Amino acid sequence: MNAPLYIKIKETDNVAITVDMIKKGTIVLDDILANEDIPQGHKIALIDIPQNGEIIRYGVILGYAVKDIKKGDWINEKMLELPQPPDVGDMKFGVNLTTELPKAPIRTFEGYKNKKGGYAGTRNILGISTTVQCVTGVLNVAVEKMKRELLPKYPNVDDIVPINHAYGCGVAINAPEAIIPIRALKNMVNNPNFGGEIMVVALGCEKLTVEMLIEKAEISSENVIILQELEGFNAMMEALMQMAEKKLKILNERKRETLPLSELCIGMQCGGSDAFSGITANPSAGYASDMLVEAGATVMFSEVTEVRDGVHVIAERCINQEVVKKLANEMQWYDRYLENGAVDRSANPTPGNKLGGLSNIVEKAMGSIAKSGMAPIVEVLSPGERPSKKGLIYAATPASDIVCGPMQLASGITLQVFMTGRGTPYGLAAAPVIKVSSRTNLKDSWNDLIDVNAGVIATGHATISEVGTELFNLIIDVASGKKKPWAEQYKLYNDLCIFNPAPIT
Ligand code: CA
Repeated sequence: MNAPLYIKIKETDNVAITVDMIKKGTIVLDDILANEDIPQGHKIALIDIPQNGEIIRYGVILGYAVKDIKKGDWINEKMLELPQPPDVGDMKFGVNLTTELPKAPIRTFEGYKNKKGGYAGTRNILGISTTVQCVTGVLNVAVEKMKRELLPKYPNVDDIVPINHAYGCGVAINAPEAIIPIRALKNMVNNPNFGGEIMVVALGCEKLTVEMLIEKAEISSENVIILQELEGFNAMMEALMQMAEKKLKILNERKRETLPLSELCIGMQCGGSDAFSGITANPSAGYASDMLVEAGATVMFSEVTEVRDGVHVIAERCINQEVVKKLANEMQWYDRYLENGAVDRSANPTPGNKLGGLSNIVEKAMGSIAKSGMAPIVEVLSPGERPSKKGLIYAATPASDIVCGPMQLASGITLQVFMTGRGTPYGLAAAPVIKVSSRTNLKDSWNDLIDVNAGVIATGHATISEVGTELFNLIIDVASGKKKPWAEQYKLYNDLCIFNPAPIT
């Protein structure tokens, strides 16, 4: 099969994306000749575009030409001026509610039922929560010892994960926005992968008190260790080891059972995106997401700055006014947050995104939204909130990979699917992460880091539904503990960077 030289998404597009590097003089189509060498994944003009003319991809205006562009020219990020972001004040909702989703080939998975109810776990982990960064050193030493001496005795437990974070003290704990990190850490304690077992390590004089982290009924010497109440390092080690062993004994009794997919909650995010992300990896993830939602599962997608410029497209898929109103509120909150920091939307994309062919945030947004598939959006969550509904959910978090991951964990995901074009070895300790590449050359060079290659869509070797189905099946196998993605096999775990928009003192 001859691979196409370029990919055009919508009929109205006046640019296309090069599938591979194109040499100057190459005939791209009929009367279109490449006027210069064009890198892989970059835009080529399909018609003459005058200065100030619209540059259109995905059927939306990516920007306006800063100078005359000739048919066959390479359009790089310096040649577009950003359009105004869509106004969120009066967005249409409920006008694009797809009811026909691709049918899921499997409707159950093997998960760990949660004694507190809610979603089931995909892993059986002892999660050790902390109130403050000050305890991290002691806890990390103890966790190493627990993994060496205790974990092998409890084979049904997958891992021991300390929830270390930078929050807890030296912060303006009563600042209005402090609700975000506090809520995130509080909800993190109850991630379904931790099986409802509570173990909290506190210092004793921090601002984030144990009372702010867990329920009153849960505060006891069975669940909480306060380091300042113990006589030195050895006593701390002993207390930590003893409590961990009690929890491990209980967790070891958990068994996987066949559960409906309505008990599964997963997250989607992308990072290190390129121009292929929106054509290959993200639409495949969207297809898998639609299948999961069709079978009753919950799927979250996030990354505010990456949907902001396509938010009107998302609004049309919101099921009612309440959902679209919350969507608008979250977008406005983030607009103000960026404004206060004196940055604008051009702070995203990254230089790597631009090298990959993504000129600006509009182009990145339209590609990013593709990972949400077509399903209606039933709920919008503030950062770190837990869902009250099942189905496709928009969880408003920063786009930063290492912040989006922990914030989705706080919202209750038990597995994450991560799409990448440039490549990142990203992973989470508390939930398995499946990585999907947007280009075949990334899969070729990172064969032992990428789990699914969606690049075959660009070269015409597979369709979006084929790769989407492959990804869906892998999600079920990983959720059921039958397979481990690469990042989990190597234990490539990023730090838990909780979103804290409030002042640090
Ligand atoms: Ca991201």
